[in-house]
Amino acid sequence: MIIAHQLLGRALTGSPPPGPRPVATICRVPHRTKIGLPRRLPLVPVPVPGESLLSWLGCMGRLLGVNRGEAAYVSGVWHVADRRVVSGVSLTNQRSAIFGLDDESVERINAATGLSAAAARDMTWTRFTGTALPVEFGHSDPSRKQRMLKENWVNPASLSLCPGCFDDSDGRWLLRWSLPWAYACLEHDCYLVTACPTCRYRVDEAAVVRGTCGGYLRDRSGSVQRCSTEFRHVRATRIRDVELLRLQRLLDGHLQAAGELEMNQARADFQDLVALGVMAVYLATPDHLDGADAVVRDALSVFSRRYWVKYGRNMNRSDIDSPPKMVQAAFLRVAARILFANDPLAAASDLVDLGKNPMDPSLVPLHRSWLHRQPEVTERVKPIVEAIRAARIEARGVSL
Ligand SMILES: [Zn+2]
Ligand SMILES: [Zn+2]
Repeated sequence: MIIAHQLLGRALTGSPPPGPRPVATICRVPHRTKIGLPRRLPLVPVPVPGESLLSWLGCMGRLLGVNRGEAAYVSGVWHVADRRVVSGVSLTNQRSAIFGLDDESVERINAATGLSAAAARDMTWTRFTGTALPVEFGHSDPSRKQRMLKENWVNPASLSLCPGCFDDSDGRWLLRWSLPWAYACLEHDCYLVTACPTCRYRVDEAAVVRGTCGGYLRDRSGSVQRCSTEFRHVRATRIRDVELLRLQRLLDGHLQAAGELEMNQARADFQDLVALGVMAVYLATPDHLDGADAVVRDALSVFSRRYWVKYGRNMNRSDIDSPPKMVQAAFLRVAARILFANDPLAAASDLVDLGKNPMDPSLVPLHRSWLHRQPEVTERVKPIVEAIRAARIEARGVSL
């Protein structure tokens, strides 16, 4: 609180705020509005490009000496009646502001912080409407949004980070780091970090907020100590794999797509990659990863030992919906190789040769899954989906 008062005092007297955190005072006078508004804040952190709303609120909370829920209230993200409801700004609660801001919220945010509606909405999942998520995402109700996220392979609770970016921005975290479409940072030339290299504890929300690992280590005397590795100092694994580099470049471009043509192309690639990625979940092994970096190949080896392809992978739902990030990168690599081949159907036979063995037992779980719900794909991938759906139907002796 003392720090907050000092900062607020400096802002009011016009002297610059201390510390490296990017901060702006915004002087535009708020327009009149019908909603009960919080007062204009004297200090507002400038969102870094692609930042998560929760990261921004955390930064504001640190500036003001309040928690994230209170920062959401004073910045207008959350409204008065729900001031104490922390779920309103949680990572996963389906009513959380992270899944989209209504008109009243953006009006309140603008009044309290001077942030435009577009800048505020860019920090929520609606940022990816029409690219990584369907065009109707922004206007859907909360439960339908959750379904869409799942169907598009997005797990909002999955967190990873680039230590270099994390350091450069003084601990801000980006929304895209929760997407399957971001497994590497091309600026720092590394894979994203999903677990602490010291104790292997996964990167979770408390850890990114704190900036240090929340795992525990046993020392020589046998006593248990908090690991507390600082993520900004973690050395991330360099990315060398040209295929995954090329794919990440394409995906980064797609996530920034603007204009109808570009967005349609991006959406088509994301849809097809989800379908082929799920196909790879059921069928890919390290044998399909020639030329891949060890970190990706090793991740798939562990996954493959747990779930054997030979008799049909019988997986936990969470492993299908949200595999570990490096395993997912392996699946995307396999999927992209098929999607961007001259003949995707022929390239898919690398995973399973339908012509040779339409009754291949490894195909059963995928076939079952696609019979239950046919994936939405473009014409490029339709023949593959149809061949797999048909293969087991023939095997069962049901006429087409
Ligand atoms: Zn980076
Ligand atoms: Zn650790």
